[in-house]
Amino acid sequence: MNIMLKPDPRHLMKVTPRPDAVMVRGQGAWLWDDAGRRYLDCVQGWAVNCLGHSHPALVEAIARQATRLLTPSPAFYNDQALRLATRLAHATGLQQVFFANSGAEANEGAIKLARKWGSLHKGGAWQIITFVNGYHGRTLATMSATGKPGWDTMYAPQVPGFPKARLNDLASVEALIEPRTVAVMLELVQGEAGVLGATGEFVGALRALCDRHGLLLIVDEVQTGIGRLGNLFACDTYGVRPDILTLGKGLGGGAPIAAVLGSESASCFEYGDQGGTFCGNPLSAAIGNAVLDIVAQPGFLAGVRERGLQLAEGLRELARRHHMGEVRAYGLLQALELGEGRDSADVVAAAREQGLLLNAPRPHCLRLMPALNVTGAEVTQMLEMLDAALVW
Ligand SMILES: *Cc1c(COP(=O)(O)O)cnc(C)c1O
Repeated sequence: MNIMLKPDPRHLMKVTPRPDAVMVRGQGAWLWDDAGRRYLDCVQGWAVNCLGHSHPALVEAIARQATRLLTPSPAFYNDQALRLATRLAHATGLQQVFFANSGAEANEGAIKLARKWGSLHKGGAWQIITFVNGYHGRTLATMSATGKPGWDTMYAPQVPGFPKARLNDLASVEALIEPRTVAVMLELVQGEAGVLGATGEFVGALRALCDRHGLLLIVDEVQTGIGRLGNLFACDTYGVRPDILTLGKGLGGGAPIAAVLGSESASCFEYGDQGGTFCGNPLSAAIGNAVLDIVAQPGFLAGVRERGLQLAEGLRELARRHHMGEVRAYGLLQALELGEGRDSADVVAAAREQGLLLNAPRPHCLRLMPALNVTGAEVTQMLEMLDAALVW
């Protein structure tokens, strides 16, 4: 290998447009590019870095575990995965855990678990009702479960068995139930769709509907889990008990780990049904344990709720002054509707010029998902920079 080769972005496949800046370092709420510019980060790896960039406790956990054990193979128990599984089971009330490496892989596992359960307990039922605008990942099955416009024809043919209902419309769910239906799968707050929340009433009625028809309720908490909404899980916020729950993103605080959790009766995998080389590796699990150590500290989640209120209040004030639309706020997962006249991609670019990183999940909508330990002063600074970016 010629070590003098100049790095060339043309060697990366074109999967998404990217600005020219090359990110090289992160610390807390800040990210630096290779020209030494610093950015206040409201994206945080897409709601991944729940403790900000390179939190010292995570760095320490990674270094410590790296010297102890990386991968003994999934054919053996390891101390870190056992500890994390036990903590997650106790925190959710769901008895069993399968670890994966990404949210999509966790959801893929949840889909397999539901189909297995259907084959054992529901006469071979295998269809899973999912939702318009829902997002579950980029494997073929999870893309098919996703309700993003246009994704039904991308990479056709789809994996069959994911009819789409509408969030907060119980009749649209009921209309799709048939003998082949085994489960309903949803995000309680649709993140990629622009932070669209289910109502408490809908979620309660959906749980009852699933019970009445003997269907599994699968909640995808890849984005909402691990404190994002101000409770450890969105299920706590909504007071609902799913049969299967998936986690990803925040669970690793910036490192790849995800999980499928199942109730005692839903956890029906038998030997050979599911696996993966890196699933439950001790390095990832040690990071998950370090994240939980901090998020579970007294006062941490109260801090998330407090910063969430501060950010939402600030966004509403900006919306009034700049004649924009609605603010949707769930803990530190928030969206701002810009109004038809403003293109969110333009605002993202203008904000980046100011040194603020934002995400645009929809053409007229911004999403903000700062680190859960963001400070009040940093939130104030985010709002000031956004204010400046909105003037043109
Ligand atoms: C991000 C996300 C996924 C996919 O997770 P990956 O780690 O990107 O595979 C699935 N579901 C939801 C709700 C997400 O936000």
